[in-house]
Formats: sequence, structure tokens, C-alpha cells
Amino acid sequence: MRASSIPASSLRQSLRSAVAGPTSRRTFATQSRLQASYGFIGLGRMGYPMAKNLRTKIPSSDTMFIHDVNPTICEKFASEHKGVTVVEDVRAIAENVETILTVLPEPHHVQNVFQQMLRPPTLLTDAPIKQERLFIDCSTIDVRSSAEVAEATHSTGQGKFIDAPMSGGVVGASNGTLTFMMGAPPELVDRANAILSLMGKRVVHLGAQTSGLKGKLANNYLLALTNIATCEAMNMGVTWGLDAKALADMINTATGKCWPSEVNNPVPGVVPTAPASNGYEGGFGTELMLKDLKLAMQAAAEQGIIPELGIHAKDIYQAVENDAELKGRDFSVVYRYFGGKNTDKLKGLNGQ
Ligand code: NAD
Repeated sequence: MRASSIPASSLRQSLRSAVAGPTSRRTFATQSRLQASYGFIGLGRMGYPMAKNLRTKIPSSDTMFIHDVNPTICEKFASEHKGVTVVEDVRAIAENVETILTVLPEPHHVQNVFQQMLRPPTLLTDAPIKQERLFIDCSTIDVRSSAEVAEATHSTGQGKFIDAPMSGGVVGASNGTLTFMMGAPPELVDRANAILSLMGKRVVHLGAQTSGLKGKLANNYLLALTNIATCEAMNMGVTWGLDAKALADMINTATGKCWPSEVNNPVPGVVPTAPASNGYEGGFGTELMLKDLKLAMQAAAEQGIIPELGIHAKDIYQAVENDAELKGRDFSVVYRYFGGKNTDKLKGLNGQ
């Protein structure tokens, strides 16, 4: 169902009727539960499969509103799922929905979307919303922007804003096995947990708002470095004449073991399911790694921390992104970067 031409008031009216109607109540053993409403903003590589899991797992009578600046993606989602209303304006979501998830690329996208949802206020006195409005931002953005959006939400009494960035990539989003790192006050943990658990297998509450992002950025800073270190170590070993698989097997039972060595090994053929064995296609793009690394370094700098290794790592990832042949591939392609730009090692990037 497309609601682009339906005025928000009509949406409210139809939802009011739906919420008030006898069919909107489901009776449980101990209590009746009102129909719940969800909004999903940003249906990209992560958001689309997350929204799919959410829509599939919530009761069919619950309502779901979706929005993306790319209308084609919304139409596709609505054609594949029942009980979805497409809106062209995020305000229509904010006016009608209790729980709103955002999965957007960069800080400025999150700021723009929240500016539209909060100014002028969208929490209407006659809205069909039955419990406090909760905004869950799953985007990986900088800590300061997230805190500013939370402050704008809280100071105007328009609901609660928490951060819940995720780890697990597109495969985890599709399989519903993401790990969420949540920054939220204790009283919202159970409510958010119940929703995020529909899209992931682990929800880790790290503390107050922004804590989820701080945890995510610390983790991805470490990942940025362990990936480069693994690429260097594997390149050394292979160049010294060691068998790549034997070397990786040894490292993975020794102290050098890490996610890039064990799961995402950068040498083609060592781990058949790793992007390296598929021409470095899919996986976690260097561009996203670079973005997260910069966000972590920015947050560190704001606390007077100099991220020594990150400075060099940033240059390496930037150089990979500047290389026309390596650009756009999984970040383990750094192995090829260390292999030398003018050698035959660069050939066969497409899985040969
Ligand atoms: P993406 O670029 O594939 O999707 C983002 C979506 O947001 C797009 O469909 C885009 O059209 C939409 N969008 C942009 N501006 C919008 C606006 N103003 N209103 C509504 N929709 C808008 O990005 P992604 O890979 O899905 O990543 C989303 C977030 O998740 C990012 O912050 C990213 O860092 C994080 N993340 C990504 C991965 C991954 O593997 N892709 C893993 C973990 C976390």
C-alpha cells in the first residue's frame, strides 16, 4: 500500500480506527496487547533484510510504515510483504508510529531525518500512539551527532532516542543473526531488546545513550588494524614460501588468531566462504571500514587520544580506495595492495 498521496490526518484516522477496532486486540493468557506500530527508515543493504525480518516476525496485525529516499526499493519491499505502508515523508511515520528504526548511511542523513521528524513537533495529541515513542538508530555514526539527536528528541519531549549500531554485515542482517550494541537507559532495555532480537541473535547493552556507538567504534577500530596486520603477516609468510592454508591453520591455533585470520582470511582459497575466495566480492567494503575508522579516530581525538596505528591504517585504506582495481571490494583486498601494484598478483582479482 502506498500512502504518498494520503494526508497524514487520513493515515491517523485509519490507524485510529484500526487501533480502536475490536480486531486490533489480541488476547494473551494474562493480558491483552494493543496492536503495535513500527516505522523503518532506510532500506539499503542492511535495512532491507532487517525490515524483512521485523515484518516477518511481528504479528500480522501490527502495522509497519517504511520510507527510503529511493522509492523503487520501498515499492519492492511493499510488493514482497503484506501489512506495509509506504510513505514519502518521514513525518507521516513519526506521527503514527510508536517504534521507529533508522538505518542510514552517514551522520548527516540521520540529522536530516530527525530534523524533519522533530521540527515542528510530530507527537500529536490525537495520535494513535499508545506508549512512549521510541527511536532506535542502528546507523553507524559519530558519537557527538548521536548525542545531539538524542538531546533534540529528549529536550522537546518527543520521545526517547537510543543508539543500537550493529555488527554482522549483510549476511547477518539477512539471517537475523546480527549483534546489536545498545546505548540506552535501563528502563528502555527490555523494550528495545524485544524489538532488536527479531533482527539479531545478540543484543549487548553497554550503558547510557551513545555507549552502543562507542562500543561499535572501538570494535571496528580494532578490526581495521587486525585486518591490516593479518594481510601483512599472510603476505610475509606466502612470500617466504609457506603454504597459505598451513600458515593460516597454525595462526588460528596460536596467539595471532583473530577474525580476519580465521573467518575472513585475505588469501584466496584459504577460507572458501571468505570474500577473498570470491574475487573479494561482497563482505565488508573498504569504504565502510574507512568510514568507521575515521569515526573512531574522530571520537578518540575529541577525548584527547591520539590513535597512533589508526593514522597509518587510514592512509592504507584510503590508498586502496583510490586504486581503481581494488576499490569497492571487501576490505581484505588490502592483501593485494601489499602484494604490489605492478606484479602479477593483481591479476585474477575476479576469483581466478
Ligand atoms: P546503504 O547505503 O546500502 O543503505 C542506506 C539506505 O538509506 C539507502 O537505501 C538510501 O537510499 C537510504 N537513505 C539515505 N538517505 C536517506 C534519507 N534521508 N531518508 C531515507 N532513506 C535514506 O547502507 P547500509 O550498508 O545499509 O548501511 C547502513 C548503516 O549500517 C551505515 O551506517 C553502515 O555503516 C552500517 N553498517 C553497515 C554494514 C554493512 O555491512 N553494510 C554493517 C554494519 C553496519
